[in-house]
Amino acid sequence: MNAVPLAAPVHHRPRLTLLALGGTIAGKASQSTIYAGYRAAVSDVSEILSSVPELAGVADIQANQILQVASQDMASQHLLALGKEVNRLLSRHDCDGVVITQGTNTLEETSYFLNLVVRSHKPVVVTGAMRPSTSLSADGPMNLFRATVVAASPQAIGRGVMVVMNDQILGARDVHKTDTMTVDSFKSPLFGVMGMVVDNACFFYRSAIRCHTLDSEFDISDTQELPKVDIVYGYQDDHRALLDACVATGSKGIVLAGAGTAAISARLLPAVKDAIAAGIAVVRVSRSSLGLVGHNVEFDDDTYGTASGDTLNPAKARILLMLALTRSMNRSNIQACFDRY
Ligand code: ASP
Repeated sequence: MNAVPLAAPVHHRPRLTLLALGGTIAGKASQSTIYAGYRAAVSDVSEILSSVPELAGVADIQANQILQVASQDMASQHLLALGKEVNRLLSRHDCDGVVITQGTNTLEETSYFLNLVVRSHKPVVVTGAMRPSTSLSADGPMNLFRATVVAASPQAIGRGVMVVMNDQILGARDVHKTDTMTVDSFKSPLFGVMGMVVDNACFFYRSAIRCHTLDSEFDISDTQELPKVDIVYGYQDDHRALLDACVATGSKGIVLAGAGTAAISARLLPAVKDAIAAGIAVVRVSRSSLGLVGHNVEFDDDTYGTASGDTLNPAKARILLMLALTRSMNRSNIQACFDRY
């Protein structure tokens, strides 16, 4: 692993790198009043950058288009490549931080992944837009400006990967896309915002407690592929065929999004036992959007060999389980990851 220096407070004009991945912030519609029927991932990074000339007052910015997709089309290969590129950039003395623009649909997965694999205390800020660039009141330009203000701020050093949307600074672990359309979609309902951006300054009130970045054990520098991990949803009348299909298609881990405190139905339980007997890691999380799934709470994890997923939503639990499986298949090690990160 390359040793990456701790970021020193920035005394010169900040030098940031903007990485663009597509999404609605790069989207265009046929009319300014259309917010829903548009094409994502159309404008390239130079067009995005030139739409916010005010950025020149904040930092020197290098820009790079590394992907041009709607974020539901992102896959773990993209995450691995992005994580390696961010680490490469942050290991340079002429890069003080990274801003990433991507689609909002899976932004919480990307930001949590980076939170776990970035080997630096330098700021990494992910942003996007809920409205395409052609909209009346497009939110992308201000989100990008705010994200850049945060990435350029010495106060942002050491806080883990952050998401900046709608004037708020949210921790990557806890942020959720809560609404399909509104500009205030990104929230951290359980734990609150880390801070806010007002005019040209950011204000912090909280820090991430769970391990991240330099405190994280995950090193992807030699990882070529992440283990296959799938999500199975629990519901009335659920049945084992989907879980069995994950096993048959080579899953190394399964995230079970159960009802309430991640209860597993009697219909699914035999398939869970079979998967665990076959050496597959099974982690229970809740399909409810908020709350803790505690170990052995309303389900005997120790008897069945499952792990409990804490407050992570299914998509984020999948990210952590992929990384945990790069280190160990052992259930107590996997549980320790869900307790730490
Ligand atoms: N609607 C999405 C967005 O807000 C599209 C995507 O995730 O790429 O960016």
